[in-house]
Amino acid sequence: MKKIVIIGGVAAGAKAAAKAKRLLPEAEINLYTDDTHVSYSSCGMPYYIEGNFDDYKMLLVRSPEEFEAQGIHIHLRHRAAKIIPYCKQVLIEDLESKKAALVDYDKLIIATGARAFVPPIKNANLPNVFTLRKIEDAIAIKEKALSSKHATIVGGGYIGIELLEAFVKQNLYVTLVEYSPNIMSIFDDDMSELILNQLNSINNGKFEILTSNLVTEFSGDTNGVNGVRTSTGKYFDTDFVVVCTGVVPNVDIAREAGIVLSETGAIKVNEKMETSECDIYACGDCVDENLLISNTRIWLPLGSNANKEGRCAAMNACGFEDNFYGVLGSAVTRCLGFTMSMTGLSVKKAKQLGFEPIFASVTKYDKVGYMPDVNNITLKLIADKTTRQLIGGQAVGVGDADKRINTLTSALLAKLTVDEFLNNDLTYAPPYSPTIDPLLNAAQILQNKLNNQAED
Ligand SMILES: Cc1cc2nc3c(=O)[nH]c(=O)nc-3n(C[C@H](O)[C@H](O)[C@H](O)COP(=O)(O)OP(=O)(O)OC[C@H]3O[C@@H](n4cnc5c(N)ncnc54)[C@H](O)[C@@H]3O)c2cc1C
Repeated sequence: MKKIVIIGGVAAGAKAAAKAKRLLPEAEINLYTDDTHVSYSSCGMPYYIEGNFDDYKMLLVRSPEEFEAQGIHIHLRHRAAKIIPYCKQVLIEDLESKKAALVDYDKLIIATGARAFVPPIKNANLPNVFTLRKIEDAIAIKEKALSSKHATIVGGGYIGIELLEAFVKQNLYVTLVEYSPNIMSIFDDDMSELILNQLNSINNGKFEILTSNLVTEFSGDTNGVNGVRTSTGKYFDTDFVVVCTGVVPNVDIAREAGIVLSETGAIKVNEKMETSECDIYACGDCVDENLLISNTRIWLPLGSNANKEGRCAAMNACGFEDNFYGVLGSAVTRCLGFTMSMTGLSVKKAKQLGFEPIFASVTKYDKVGYMPDVNNITLKLIADKTTRQLIGGQAVGVGDADKRINTLTSALLAKLTVDEFLNNDLTYAPPYSPTIDPLLNAAQILQNKLNNQAED
């Protein structure tokens, strides 16, 4: 009987376990995680904090008991301390009993994910300074939020702005502090500025976004944090802080086992999710990806990628060939009614990678203007000047921005030129789109630009 051992069990590990059992019902599958929960939706945690649902258990996708009923053994609070590839063994520590044991594997899947990165801020270890990565974090943050008046968020990326919405909806006053001049700086500067302006335009005195401010120090005592100081000399009181300044991949155990890491710092895998060591696979936030547009490595720690990679790792570990060729860099989020979505390369990233980007931006209704729920979206479509190939797009607005980006992903995957894309037969009816969809409108303008014609 094949012994499959999986380390980590949130998205990638849990997916790999379930898939492996379906493929090889006779296999002995053991999943070890140092976490107190398995198979949960980290992505849903901001919406739990926001109060969309009260019971955190709604975030749990599958319980250990459900896994067990399928013949998958889940070992919570068990840390994999060492991988010994030449013996095909893993040293597992039981975090409760403090006992350790060696476990044999035929195939090993590493799904150790990522952890929050906290920059050097003085007194960052005060009580009520949180990061958000695990379910316990979400529970503690929500509990604190419900008894507080002022929340501080450090970092204006995806998680920071999702929490901005969550805390505003919980009737807290929120200060979001961001080091760079813009929030959501993964977008191009013009789009980031738009996001900031749009958020500020609906700000009803409920929050403040401080850009170009580096948090240098928290003040407080054993009762907890009570103030924040920034590089520009600002100081303000707060009841608690959530630091959302990014994540780093959990690769220590892989590195110590001699597994090759990529230049991004994550574990290097091929399209079968194989690592440099025989019979060891890796998937999820601990690995990096091939960026399909440029065939360069990129680390995109996203749940969408983790699930696909977990499935692919399980397929290959079980002897069924499967390939995960890479990612486009598609992402979406929402803050206070605004959708922000992107795929492919931004103009700034395209330039870094040696493309010659050319773009068109439009601000249009998302459906016909007489419809009662019509809203604007701003859409930026990017192509390479030489090849005319579409290489990226970004959309922001109260209107349906995400639909346009999801349409564009297929075009990027198929490496369509702007000219080919203009043949796209998109649906039209007044509740869904104007007669010419904003996406096609942007493509027309882009084609004109490429042909050096006047915009129309
Ligand atoms: C607040 C938040 C919102 C998000 N929203 C989105 C979203 O909207 N869309 C999206 O695509 N992505 C989103 N993400 C990202 C997404 O949640 C992650 O990409 C996904 O959880 C990655 O899954 P994973 O299994 O690879 O890693 P993780 O979720 O990091 O899980 C790894 C697990 O392995 C355990 N582990 C680590 N080392 C060991 C060891 N040595 N021994 C045993 N166990 C170990 C860890 O404790 C952890 O439980 C969000 C993340 C957060 C935190």
